[in-house]
Amino acid sequence: MFEIVFLGTSASAPSVHRGLSAQVVKHDEFRFLIDCGEGTQRQILQSGIGFKRLNRILITHGHLDHILGLAGLLSTFSRWEAIDELEIYAGKWALDRIHDLLFGVVLRGARPPMALRLVEVRPGVIFEDAEFSVSAFPVDHRGSDCYGYLFDEKSRRPFLAEQADALDIPQGPWRRDLVNGQSVTLPDGRHIDPDQVLGPARPGTRLVHVGDTGRTDNLRGVCQSADLLVIEATYLQEEVQMAADFAHLTALQAAELAVQAGVKHLVLTHISRRYRERDVLAEARAVFPQVNVARDFDVFQIKRDELLRPAQSD
Ligand SMILES: [Zn+2]
Ligand SMILES: [Zn+2]
Repeated sequence: MFEIVFLGTSASAPSVHRGLSAQVVKHDEFRFLIDCGEGTQRQILQSGIGFKRLNRILITHGHLDHILGLAGLLSTFSRWEAIDELEIYAGKWALDRIHDLLFGVVLRGARPPMALRLVEVRPGVIFEDAEFSVSAFPVDHRGSDCYGYLFDEKSRRPFLAEQADALDIPQGPWRRDLVNGQSVTLPDGRHIDPDQVLGPARPGTRLVHVGDTGRTDNLRGVCQSADLLVIEATYLQEEVQMAADFAHLTALQAAELAVQAGVKHLVLTHISRRYRERDVLAEARAVFPQVNVARDFDVFQIKRDELLRPAQSD
């Protein structure tokens, strides 16, 4: 299961109700901040999620509405928030700009308040743990080296407790080892293989996050059968030409991608204040009913094809 907390959902400039791009994806104790628009640190405070373990930041691209908040965040960390290390992942162009912002403006020769690593993203896996992985994939927007991020839970074979009971396997380490795919020898001398108590593999949850993009045809593969697609919808179809000129999507184009890729749920973000939210929703919903338009502080949990909306984040 992944949880996503939207911190800022506005396109290019903030509005009264929407901050600039930022969201946190969580999996157990791991947290990834995706983009960090101006004002993100205040949104983090207001959301209640806090700064703890917020030590990995994934940047989609180098436009200012996605990175300016890094300056304030680093400044705050240098005063009182104790984080031992901070990793910022971005494509080369964005990373150069972030380097200028942090080392040229914020630090200006001072030592970073923590181990600070700027990591250049290339397509492929950028983080891996026993339970899930995070991969970067290229996205076409203005400027080079723009990336989207795929959060991919590993498939699991469910433990069949009834089967284990029928085989008289005692509680304790034997069951744990079998869950982990290891054969065991029971106290009575019987040998049990994992295949005897594990069901067929069930695929894990897939969450795809796409920031600003002007194309969707190159995203169908990575979005294929995703449980949740989070993607920008800056324009409505009535301004489809302007969307193309600025390399952004309309709500309809985002929804059409969801249909073509067979995704289960769609959440639209990067919303322009030139439109009413309900018009954005209506345009997408006409072709893809399982759609939401994110608001600041919205929390969604995605567990395979089930999208839940807990009252608030833990
Ligand atoms: Zn943007
Ligand atoms: Zn942009």
